[in-house]
Amino acid sequence: MRTLIRDLVNKVGEQVEISGWVHVRRDHGKLIFIELRDRSGVVQVVFLKDLYEQADKLRPEWVVKITGQVNARPANMVNPNISTGTIEILAKEVSVYSEAKTPPIAVDTDGSEIGEEARMKYRYVDLRRARMQRNLRLRSKTLGFIDEYMKGQDFVEVETPILSKSTPEGARDYLVPSRLYPGKFYALPQSPQQYKQLLMVAGLERYFQVARCFRDEDTRGDRQPEFTQIDLEMSFVNREDVLAVLEGLMIELVTREFPEKKIQQAPFPRISYKEAMEKYGNDKPDFRKDKNDPNELAFVWVIDFPFYEEVKDPSATAAAGQAGSGQRKKWDFGHNPFSMPYGEKLPDMTNDNDYDKLKDVMAMQYDLALNGFEIAGGSIRNHLPDLLKKAFTLLGYEEKVVIDKFGHMMDAFSYGVPPHGGAAIGFDRLMMILLNEPNIREVIAFSKTGDGRDLMMDAPSDVDDKQMKELHLKITK
Ligand code: ASP
Repeated sequence: MRTLIRDLVNKVGEQVEISGWVHVRRDHGKLIFIELRDRSGVVQVVFLKDLYEQADKLRPEWVVKITGQVNARPANMVNPNISTGTIEILAKEVSVYSEAKTPPIAVDTDGSEIGEEARMKYRYVDLRRARMQRNLRLRSKTLGFIDEYMKGQDFVEVETPILSKSTPEGARDYLVPSRLYPGKFYALPQSPQQYKQLLMVAGLERYFQVARCFRDEDTRGDRQPEFTQIDLEMSFVNREDVLAVLEGLMIELVTREFPEKKIQQAPFPRISYKEAMEKYGNDKPDFRKDKNDPNELAFVWVIDFPFYEEVKDPSATAAAGQAGSGQRKKWDFGHNPFSMPYGEKLPDMTNDNDYDKLKDVMAMQYDLALNGFEIAGGSIRNHLPDLLKKAFTLLGYEEKVVIDKFGHMMDAFSYGVPPHGGAAIGFDRLMMILLNEPNIREVIAFSKTGDGRDLMMDAPSDVDDKQMKELHLKITK
């Protein structure tokens, strides 16, 4: 029966069977040493003369089974750098499960010396390194904690569709052509925003989901075409209720799972969007007192966002379906259109000068910044159908367009909607910070490159003519 490497220290004197990858190999004349690696650690294995010939064939990353005896190492041979450093295995038998070509990249380093292209192309090898194993395991553990915490607070996990309809979250959609409905498209969700609001109409009251989101925007250190959010929504709440859930979750998570980290200030400080922009020049200020301390966590709430934003170049950005005067086209939603304006009202526009009033409309929107990154955002929603319609028509959207895009929301809100609000946590970014990684690609198993490609799977890629025909598509070059 197989023993895991981490359990070997308790089996001194016993005969064991271990399986894993040849991590490194060292020859000392008639002795061969290998370090064997499994998911739980590495251990040194010694091959004496009788097994020399077999051991001599072993190469790094071969997958083998070794039967042998666990021996305590003499005091002067103890290796304090590995958890099995007090023992070694004296091999009695080796069998090879599979041989391996020389690995294209080293796996016994932290990988930061290797070019990203090679790491992404051979990601399955790259993920063998201790650092990536740690990241994936802690990511899984953190998700487990969040799952337990949210369910403990009476949140219900609900999965929402991936094939959906375009949602306005401020980015470009990924579109999926429909085979059955020529010329029509699904959109991959930029977030489950509309579904979670509809779940509030459905009476769930407290929803959460580990949700995959898709946004066709340029990849950066803290951005990927697809990413993971901890998405939540609550009914019969005000802003304070939502902030309390998020703050409670963050504090518990750090205290329980990352005790080496220090939260600089709790309750988390708050700053208005206006003050953040004026004082720090951005809406995700870095409040750390000591930016050299990798364990310092400075959370800060940014609140009171403008509902509308002035558009710099209206001709370039005026949205489809936005008609009306030039004044109108100079304005767009600051975030997404679903936020409740302060005081549950919007100004009336009777002439062009009135458009100046849009500047003063505040949204019940909040962001959570951590060490200079936006790690969560959300709002109290506009659940009043007429006010929601007005939010669009003020910008010059034709009623027809609003109904076409959001008719289902307005309809739903006409069947008994509770006041509601929510938020989403950017989970990859949060893990990046908690694990002290320089970018989110280090905490995502199969991430895309900086320019949006999956080098391992070779995506995006060409498809068959037959597939194109079925989808009623033609490429024009
Ligand atoms: N859907 C929003 C986002 O993805 C979050 C929210 O308002 O709940 O940014």
